[in-house]
Amino acid sequence: MKEKSVLIQDQEFISNALKLRFHPITVTEGKGCYLFDENGRSFLDLTAGWAVANIGYGQESVAEKLKEQYIKLSFTTQLSAPSQTMTELAEKLIEMTPGDFSKKVWFGHSGSDANDLISKLVPAASGRPKMIAFMGAYHGQTMGALSLSGHSAQAKFEGKGNVIKLPYPNPYRPFSGISEHLTEQTIHFMNEVFSTICPPEETAGIIVEAIQSDGGVILPPDDFLAALRQICDQHGIYLIVDEVKVGMGRTGKWFSFEHSPIIPDAVVLGKSLGGGLPISAVIGRQEILDSVTAGHMFTASGNPLCTAAAIETIRIIEEKDLISQAEKNGQYFLEGLRSLQKKYPFIGEVRGKGLVLGVEIVTDRLEKKPDPVKTSAICYRAYELGLLIYYVGIHGNVLEITPPLTISREEITEALHLLDQTLQDVAAGHV
Ligand code: PLP
Repeated sequence: MKEKSVLIQDQEFISNALKLRFHPITVTEGKGCYLFDENGRSFLDLTAGWAVANIGYGQESVAEKLKEQYIKLSFTTQLSAPSQTMTELAEKLIEMTPGDFSKKVWFGHSGSDANDLISKLVPAASGRPKMIAFMGAYHGQTMGALSLSGHSAQAKFEGKGNVIKLPYPNPYRPFSGISEHLTEQTIHFMNEVFSTICPPEETAGIIVEAIQSDGGVILPPDDFLAALRQICDQHGIYLIVDEVKVGMGRTGKWFSFEHSPIIPDAVVLGKSLGGGLPISAVIGRQEILDSVTAGHMFTASGNPLCTAAAIETIRIIEEKDLISQAEKNGQYFLEGLRSLQKKYPFIGEVRGKGLVLGVEIVTDRLEKKPDPVKTSAICYRAYELGLLIYYVGIHGNVLEITPPLTISREEITEALHLLDQTLQDVAAGHV
């Protein structure tokens, strides 16, 4: 095991640094909501591979489509000879995305390259150099995406300039401790930057997550996105929503912004779009997508296999009604977690929407001091008991639960039972 893990330098380095956010297993199989390691141990997976396996593992119809597609057309490159699957997927995504205006789609491989596109394109489309993003946001690792991010894990790197970061409204940890009118406070900060370092006429776009997931499963106030939309309309600024992690049905709607009365100018998708195959997409106003003058294309983008997998993934979500299941089962899971909160005083808050759930671990409820050490102990003990769970947040103290949307009530009950045992063991000093 040790010898193998040194081959994956990044993983070893990161797991040491972050104290076992990354599970020390070698996975050989996956079926439904379970992963199996090389010793045949099974794990109930509450991560879905960081919110990728929305349709669960080992869906046979995806395997059949992939085989069929490979035999029919194994590869073609996107712009010189676009595949029929690429065009079909683009049409479907345009149909799924709200907005009664002319749209286009771009395909990539990861959330990072898609957000990199945003960092190039939105300023190019508007002729304005600056972007506004949020502290705590995670938009990816490549240079442009990194520049838009405000996550503590990326603080060591200098991104490219011209991105102004505002605080993201967090009802559990409000600015200066004042939880009233959080949206108004954010807009106040925005107006401050407009009148100083980032005049609106120099601001191309605002990029936002409707739920800040890696930032700590933060659900902003209900009126937040509408207020951003309003300010964008007022100043001719584009509004971009990053749905890479919480989109594709996870919150009980196709896209998490659909819980608010807004229409973004561009939507970024990744992770679960291909159900595990590497594909990302930006769906946006034609004028934005047409401004890609400098080029942002990759040889294998939109390839027939990944696009065929995405088409089948969407079909499965529709056929199995996974979006309404995510809503109902998410509510059931949330209630179960709230019962656990009553038992364990180190659970500061439980929150979530659909199957994006967060459990904030603190030293005590009054002080709300983050407890990242206990949080990683919980992840480790859960893993020992056969439950995979991970943590996020700028303080590393929020358990994030993003299981496959196919998870059943029985599996949720089992997960809650294992989590209860885990919390009991950690409370008793098990590390
Ligand atoms: N955007 C969001 C909201 C994410 O959560 C992530 C990854 O966690 C990304 C973008 C980057 O995606 P990828 O890891 O596929 O590059």
